[in-house]
Amino acid sequence: MSLPEFPVEGGCQCGSVRYRLKASPMSVYNCHCKDCQRFSGAAWSMSVTTSRDNVEQLSGTLATYEKPSQSGRIISMQFCAHCHGWLWNLPQSAPGMMVLRAGSLDDLDWAQPVGNIWTDSKAAWVKLDPDLVNMPGQPSDREPLNKAWTELTGKDH
Ligand SMILES: [Zn+2]
Ligand SMILES: [Zn+2]
Repeated sequence: MSLPEFPVEGGCQCGSVRYRLKASPMSVYNCHCKDCQRFSGAAWSMSVTTSRDNVEQLSGTLATYEKPSQSGRIISMQFCAHCHGWLWNLPQSAPGMMVLRAGSLDDLDWAQPVGNIWTDSKAAWVKLDPDLVNMPGQPSDREPLNKAWTELTGKDH
């Protein structure tokens, strides 16, 4: 699969928040946790993991919801302050990392998921591709997801 020419851009529904993703992310995968189901309104949400300094916010104002995770750590979920579109999470457990919502990207053609996490809480009718990196809960090690992304995109980063 070929990557686009970076930077690429994305934003919220109303167009107030715009951002730039400067280079290829670490990985792209589906998350089937209950929080993602509630916040996305779908059976899973698509996560794009990247270092925070790989994303530059170009415009708009963010609203933050500090969500306690199951482990008790806080995840800062950030939304457009106007339309409340969900843009990304900043996990306190990984200070340099950002989990961008893939659907906020202007172009999704290149953002092909390489795995599924929290498969234990997936909807019963979701069929997983056994060739992907599938994990029952929160990954303790993200390396398999990152490695699969590097292999898919044929690029070292
Ligand atoms: Zn907005
Ligand atoms: Zn999730």
